[in-house]
Amino acid sequence: MKLLEWQGRILFERFDIPVPRGVVVEDAPGARRAAEEIGTPVVLKAQIPVGGRGKAGGVRLARTPEEAGAIAVELIGREIAGAVVGKLLVAEAVEIEGEHYLGITLDRTRAAPVLIYSPEGGVEIEEVARARPEAVAREPIPPLEGPSAFRLRRLFRSAPPALRGELSRLALKLYGLFREYEAILVEINPLAETPRGLLALDAKVIVDDDHSPHPRFAALAEEVADPAERAARDAGFSYVRLDGDIGVIGNGAGLVMATLDLVAQAGGKPACFLDIGGGARAERVRRAVELVLGDGRVRAVFVNVFGGITRCDEVARGLVAVTAGAGVPVVVRLTGTNEAEGRRILKEAGLEPVGTMEEGASLVVSLVKEGRR
Ligand code: GDP
Ligand code: MN
Repeated sequence: MKLLEWQGRILFERFDIPVPRGVVVEDAPGARRAAEEIGTPVVLKAQIPVGGRGKAGGVRLARTPEEAGAIAVELIGREIAGAVVGKLLVAEAVEIEGEHYLGITLDRTRAAPVLIYSPEGGVEIEEVARARPEAVAREPIPPLEGPSAFRLRRLFRSAPPALRGELSRLALKLYGLFREYEAILVEINPLAETPRGLLALDAKVIVDDDHSPHPRFAALAEEVADPAERAARDAGFSYVRLDGDIGVIGNGAGLVMATLDLVAQAGGKPACFLDIGGGARAERVRRAVELVLGDGRVRAVFVNVFGGITRCDEVARGLVAVTAGAGVPVVVRLTGTNEAEGRRILKEAGLEPVGTMEEGASLVVSLVKEGRR
């Protein structure tokens, strides 16, 4: 589970990692009041579970409380990188003298956490890591040893000497948070050099809630789930949001995974994984497609159903009920129980199913590419 920035900041504060003052608001008057209270200038930051907000216009500077109000009107309710902005963090705008990157993730090959540091943090960190990997230092932390002085010295070799002590103390605190909350990623980017010392200007925390949900996150979980994930969960689907633009729906986790692979092999990018489960009736199928179509990023949908307990005619009826007004192409592959009847229903509605999964995958990818031209 990925925490929103304001939630990550709460954890940072618990571990004594310095963050600029900030208030979470949900409307323009709230933003104006927060700006008055904090003192301008302030930055307004969209609280959405995606990165790259800076580049996408989700981080804005306001010089007056009025401007903060006006920017809040612009941002709240708007969709940024596929996520609708509900809350804003209004934070004290600090003077930045330098941007560093500090993070901890899991290195699954070494079965150990790895500390990552770069003196060149900020919104271009991915580009830095790609173009000049030597500018990003990595230090594995054997769990029994912890972040020993020796490892921290090696990690921060590329840091300005005057900052190394402060960075090491921060890394220890961040490691404490990582362990305590069973995180799989904690990231401070940028970790800013300011006249007041190092400040965490952003907080990214992903906790591992698969093995045993951390009781402390029960309330946060509700808040974090994006609307599509929440709706899918409420409807009883297994749903995972992905980064692409092709909605993938199927029955059975294995089949859906295989479909994701085929779409990727055909050069496409799935927008989601949605498993309708076994024995789905028409209404459930309709609901699943509706959910996926409700995602503004989706440019085409691929429905791949193998009829076992699930009956193809039921699936077809569900599809016909929803695809007429879809607005984006829907590709269907349907095989198994009551296949002939299912195909007949689809054909009647002008929704010719494809023959194989492979065909479906390449068709849906080419439809998206055509749509882009
Ligand atoms: P992200 O793009 O989603 O990672 O959002 P960030 O919170 O990292 O903000 C993006 C960029 O906005 C940062 O790299 C900073 O350059 C800038 N920024 C964020 N907070 C402040 C601030 O308080 N003052 C100033 N001057 N810039 C800020
Ligand atoms: Mn950031």
